[in-house]
Amino acid sequence: MRRKIIAGNWKMHKTVREAEELVGSILSGLPDTPYEVVVCPPFTALYRVSQLLKGSRLKLGAQNMHYELQGAFTGEISAPMLKELDVVYVIIGHSERRHIFGESNDVIAKKLKRAVETGLKPILCVGEKLEEREGGLTEEVIGRQLNSALEGLSREDLGDLVIAYEPVWAIGTGRNATPQQAQEVHAFIRHRLSELYGDEFADSRTILYGGSVKPHNILELTKERDVDGALVGGASLSAESFLEIVEKAHK
Ligand code: PEP
Repeated sequence: MRRKIIAGNWKMHKTVREAEELVGSILSGLPDTPYEVVVCPPFTALYRVSQLLKGSRLKLGAQNMHYELQGAFTGEISAPMLKELDVVYVIIGHSERRHIFGESNDVIAKKLKRAVETGLKPILCVGEKLEEREGGLTEEVIGRQLNSALEGLSREDLGDLVIAYEPVWAIGTGRNATPQQAQEVHAFIRHRLSELYGDEFADSRTILYGGSVKPHNILELTKERDVDGALVGGASLSAESFLEIVEKAHK
């Protein structure tokens, strides 16, 4: 059985006070679900949210980290800093990191290695841009992103690896991939993982879909065979829509 996950990426939203309110509402409405439910607040709210989550079923994730352990990297946060706050998951290579902040496949590979070494569970994001999809390059782009990020890492290193397929054209646009489009790419990702690490590893990987996931489309997306949950941006900013997504996801 693969682990199913619904994770909320709050991006650069929520002050500490707002984060307390949102987490309080999520905790009080969290339904019984086979999904592991994760929230990824901004760095400034991690400490407080970590305290609020103690003893609960809700898990804590971070949105990014630096690949070095410490040093002169103004504005950056290290993996041990996250670990100290009981952060469980860390998003690596989100398309906003790749395309707004210029993170290369090489930088993402270094981050993934560090996350794994530190004992953080990485949510590695991959996805193609609209022109790449229209040019028939989706599998080539995603294959390259995967090969580069995973290079030098063994099956044992990657025991906690989660992958999120997030087509760039679907993020924050209100235009989600169709369930069939998501399934096709998820199946491709699983196939690539099986080429790299064997069937058993590939079959046990959690692969999330992300890109305009909302209460009205979560069920159809998660009904697909290779879609094991969702990484949710905008709709994770309100407890009502996030909890509705958790409730409606295919059981
Ligand atoms: C995301 O930020 O990972 C995301 C999928 O955003 P949204 O749900 O808003 O498209």
